[in-house]
Amino acid sequence: MRGIRLWAGLFGLQRVVVEAVKAGIEGEVIVSVRPKWRERDRCGVCRRRCPGYDLGEGRRRWRALDLGSTFAFVEADAPRVSCRRHGVVVCAVPWARHDSRFTKAFEDQVAWLACNCSKTAVAALQRVAWRTVGRILERVASEARRNVDLLDGLRRIGIDEISHRKGQRYLTIVVDHHTGRLVWAAAGRDRKTVLAFFDALGEERCKQIELVSCDMATWISGPVAERCPAAVRCVDPFHVVQLATDALDEVRREVWREARRQGNLELAHELKGARFAVWKNPENLTERQQAKLSEIQRTNGPLYRAYLLKEQLRQIYRLSGKKAEKLLDRWLAWARRCQMPSFVKLARTITAQRTGILAAIKHGLSNSRVEQLNTQIRLITRQAFGFHSPAALIALAMLKLAGLCPPLPR
Ligand SMILES: [Zn+2]
Repeated sequence: MRGIRLWAGLFGLQRVVVEAVKAGIEGEVIVSVRPKWRERDRCGVCRRRCPGYDLGEGRRRWRALDLGSTFAFVEADAPRVSCRRHGVVVCAVPWARHDSRFTKAFEDQVAWLACNCSKTAVAALQRVAWRTVGRILERVASEARRNVDLLDGLRRIGIDEISHRKGQRYLTIVVDHHTGRLVWAAAGRDRKTVLAFFDALGEERCKQIELVSCDMATWISGPVAERCPAAVRCVDPFHVVQLATDALDEVRREVWREARRQGNLELAHELKGARFAVWKNPENLTERQQAKLSEIQRTNGPLYRAYLLKEQLRQIYRLSGKKAEKLLDRWLAWARRCQMPSFVKLARTITAQRTGILAAIKHGLSNSRVEQLNTQIRLITRQAFGFHSPAALIALAMLKLAGLCPPLPR
């Protein structure tokens, strides 16, 4: 009898009675159990006690953590109950999440590994398909989100979009500037999605939001103004710098096209190589790129001016309120008359967003943190490639960046 009880410990099973242990046809270990009396006849969704309905599909197996290199399963009856709220559902079992064919310990380990290892390592080590990993993450994350209210105590938030697949698929994400954590994410990039976030936040907590940072899109700023009228709206610095980088690239391409038209293939070739030199921040340039840049300074007036315009706009974020305002206005005056269409257009955009841009500086919005989070999410979207749905990607992002990752079992 003592031997049989030992198996519950080996499988990390609690609140169960072990009935038998046997080896399956392929050598796998199967532990037959039944939930203790108090755990029986509970709804799989809400875990409330309900009247029994029928025997369901009979015996069922859940994959447990391997025993060494041997596959292991928990086996039990899976009767159905009739819940007043959820209808006829398979009853809850203490060792697994609802609708799962894996034990909780197995799923927690998969989630922990997905947060800490490569895609291939998780799937190979746990001997499951990557798609299955996606479904497991969804269950683990949704349980964690039920237990922790990430939206509580939010004061300063950032709303942003992330593209997660070719073909214009986007996520809308919300970060907490105070903790640097991801607190909300959903598929979509439109008014409706942003409003869904504010609905989740609720009227009372909307009133407590002091500051919202976002890019310049109206699908974000509109709902922000409606739901949090008292909040200061800031424009995310890195979106501003990104626009300047885009404008600079437009100039580079124009100069390149012009050089090709004139048959100056040497210059055209050089400009192609100059791409990274003008994109990068000066402090990160390699020696060769620095040389390239001084060459551009000598040979190509417009491109160098465009480079300086981008750099000066970046400098604004190193200054404090009044000085930044002064430099921004000087920058606007310069950009308006620089005769490079992409920068003239940028000057118009920035004039329209001036208040939001200066608000970001005044409130000391840390850009590096938001940008870092953005980079991390991009990496996660790459890791999540192959999942069946954006929900699985969101689950992985929440586990990794919202602090919801479960510890390793025991
Ligand atoms: Zn229920």
